[in-house]
Amino acid sequence: MSSPLSERTVDESTEASVAGETPEYTFGQAVDHLTKDYAAAVIVSSLSAADLRQLVKQNVEIGIAVIRGKIVLFTSASKDELRMNPVAQSLLAESSIIIHTHPEGMRTMPSAMDYQMAGSATEYLISADGVYAYNHDGLISNTPLDADYSCRTP
Ligand SMILES: [Zn+2]
Repeated sequence: MSSPLSERTVDESTEASVAGETPEYTFGQAVDHLTKDYAAAVIVSSLSAADLRQLVKQNVEIGIAVIRGKIVLFTSASKDELRMNPVAQSLLAESSIIIHTHPEGMRTMPSAMDYQMAGSATEYLISADGVYAYNHDGLISNTPLDADYSCRTP
């Protein structure tokens, strides 16, 4: 038996986004903001393993923070390690996970400064080698976490 179409669906306006003022970008749009010319921080709507590989191909160190459920990509426009930048530090202090990249052609391992800046919590470095997990005591594992990088061609 068919019911009359009198039942209304839930008022969609009650589900209106509270995400608010901060614009969210697609990965492609975000990358356009991440140059070595000026410091920038952008929120991306999602970040895939393929996107992470693309980040290493940018010619600038990029930090990835997750703040209140939002994925934030940022650069410092500085030649120093990203973690040395005060703005980056304040972003990462709020982040539930700490990740940064070393661009292709740069050292693939965490730097002495990376270890020094890290606390006892695990941080992640994404480089051309893959993903290294480390903390202030050194590498968590001597080989990169390669799960999402295993499809790279020799
Ligand atoms: Zn580094």
